[in-house]
Amino acid sequence: MRSPLTRYPLIRPKSLGRALDALHESIAGERLVPLAGGTDLFVYLNAGTPPGTRYLDLGGLGELRSIRAGAHGFVIGALATFRQLRDHAPLGRRLPSLVAAAAEVGAWQIQNRATLAGNIANASPAGDSLPVLLAHDATVRVQSVRGARVIPFERLYTGYRALALEPDELITAVEVPFPPARSSMFFRKVGTRRAQSISKVVCCGVLHRGRDGRVDHARLAYGSVAPTTLRARAVEAALVGTVPSAAAVVAARAALVRDITPIDDIRSSRDYRLTIAGNVLAQFLRLAGFGSSTG
Ligand SMILES: Cc1cc2nc3c(=O)[nH]c(=O)nc-3n(C[C@H](O)[C@H](O)[C@H](O)COP(=O)(O)OP(=O)(O)OC[C@H]3O[C@@H](n4cnc5c(N)ncnc54)[C@H](O)[C@@H]3O)c2cc1C
Repeated sequence: MRSPLTRYPLIRPKSLGRALDALHESIAGERLVPLAGGTDLFVYLNAGTPPGTRYLDLGGLGELRSIRAGAHGFVIGALATFRQLRDHAPLGRRLPSLVAAAAEVGAWQIQNRATLAGNIANASPAGDSLPVLLAHDATVRVQSVRGARVIPFERLYTGYRALALEPDELITAVEVPFPPARSSMFFRKVGTRRAQSISKVVCCGVLHRGRDGRVDHARLAYGSVAPTTLRARAVEAALVGTVPSAAAVVAARAALVRDITPIDDIRSSRDYRLTIAGNVLAQFLRLAGFGSSTG
C-alpha cells in the first residue's frame, strides 16, 4: 500500500448528525473524504494517489445500513452492502434487477464491503447498480447540516464523474419505487469474464404492457456507453404504444443509435459496444415476450 490509511487523520463518528457536523466544518479547510466500504478509495490509496489527506469513516453509522419496504417502494440505506442487497428476499422478488446487479459486482469479498452509496458516489460510468437505479426511477436522499433533500437519480450526474452534491452533503439513502405490477425486468452485464470484471456494457430494462397488450411503460438504461449512465429515450419512445412483434424489435434496435455513441477505449471498441448494446436490447425484448429476434 503506497499510501496507507494509517498515515492520515481519520474521524469515525457514531451518529449521522456528528458526521454531518464534521463534514460541514471540514469544508472551510481541507474537506474530509467520506469512506464507506473503501473498495474504490483503497484502490487510489494503494496506487499512491489518495483523493485527500483527511477521512470521514462512515462505518459507525449503523442507521444507514437498513433496507426497508414501504407502501410504494424500498428505502435502501446508503451503507447497505451489495451482499445485503443480494441476500434480501423481498428485494429479490420486487426488484430482481437490483439483486442481479449486486450479485455481479466484483466477487464475494467486494460485495461484503462495497456499499450502494459508494457505487453511486464513485460515479463510474461502468458502475453496475447505476443503470438499475436509473431504469427504476430511483431518487437519492442527501443530507447536510442545512437539511435533507431528494435528488432524482436522473439528475444526479452533471458530467463525467461529477455529482449534483454539495461538498458537505452525504448520501443517506436511495428510494426505489416498486415497478408497475407484472412488469418485465431485465439486467445484463457484459464483461470480459463472469466475475471481477468491469462492464463493457451494462443494461437494465423495465417494460409494462397495458390491458390492450400495448407497451405503456418502458425504461431502458445503459452504463459504460457514455460519460454517464444514460436512459435510451429514443428506444423507450419507439417501444411505447407498440404490441410485441419482430418489427417492433427491429425499430427499437434502430432507435438505439440515436441514444448512444460509445467510444473506443482500453476496454472495448465503439463498434463492439454498439453491437452488444443492441444484442442485449433484443435479448430483453425477447424475454419480455416480443418473440424471436436476432442477437
Ligand atoms: C476488485 C474490485 C472489483 C470491483 N468490481 C466492481 C464491479 O463489478 N462493479 C462495480 O460497479 N464496481 C466494482 N468495483 C468498484 C467498487 O467496489 C464499487 O464502486 C463500490 O460500490 C464502492 O463502494 P464503497 O462502499 O467501497 O465505496 P468507497 O470506496 O468507500 O467510496 C467510494 C466513493 O464514494 C464516496 N462515498 C461513499 N459513501 C458516500 C456517501 N454516503 N455519501 C457521499 N459520498 C460517499 C467516497 O468519498 C468515495 O469518493 C470493484 C472494486 C474492486 C476493488
